[in-house]
Amino acid sequence: MITRAQQKEFRLLAADMLGKAGFPLTEKERDSIAVADFGLSNVRQQGAQILTLFETERISAKLIVLLPAQILPEHWHPPVGDDPGKEEILRGYWGRTHYFEQGEGEIDPSLIPEDKMHCFTASKRIDLLPADQIIIAPGTKHWMQGGPEGGIVISFSTCVRDILDQFTDPAIVRTTVVIDT
Ligand code: ZN
Repeated sequence: MITRAQQKEFRLLAADMLGKAGFPLTEKERDSIAVADFGLSNVRQQGAQILTLFETERISAKLIVLLPAQILPEHWHPPVGDDPGKEEILRGYWGRTHYFEQGEGEIDPSLIPEDKMHCFTASKRIDLLPADQIIIAPGTKHWMQGGPEGGIVISFSTCVRDILDQFTDPAIVRTTVVIDT
C-alpha cells in the first residue's frame, strides 16, 4: 500500500521528470499519473509511475516513469483465451532505463534488493536510451529499472489486461491500495 501523501509525492516526481523531458501533458493527465507499488509497500524501491495516454479495447499507449534505481518488477504477459498474450513495444524517451529480458547475461546483484534475488530471473540487459526501441514478445519475462537519473519509456501494447500480468515474486499484488492517513 501507499499513502495518499506518497501518491502525491511520486506523482509530482514523475510529472517533474516528464517536464524535464519536454513531454506535453494536460493538467488532467498530470493528475492521473498512477503510482503503483505492486503490493510490496516499498514504492521507492519497487514501483512505477504510469501515465496512460489512451487505452481502447485493442491498443494502449503509456508513459512509464522510473526514478533512479526504482524497479518495475519482473513479469510476463500470459495468453488469454485465443489471444497469445499482450504484445508490448518499449521506446526509450528520456534518461536511461535498464531493461532486462530472458536470455544470455548476468544480473548485477547490487541492482536488486538482497531479499528479492529469487524474484529476478531475466538477465539479458538492454539499456534503453532515447529512441531505442524493443518489441517484447508475449510470454517473455521482463523487468526494468530506472538508470542513474531515472528513465522514461513509452509503452505501446495490445489489449489492456495489466491486471492479468503474471509476476515472478509471489508477494506481488497488481492493484495498489492507497490509504488516507
Ligand atoms: Zn510488461
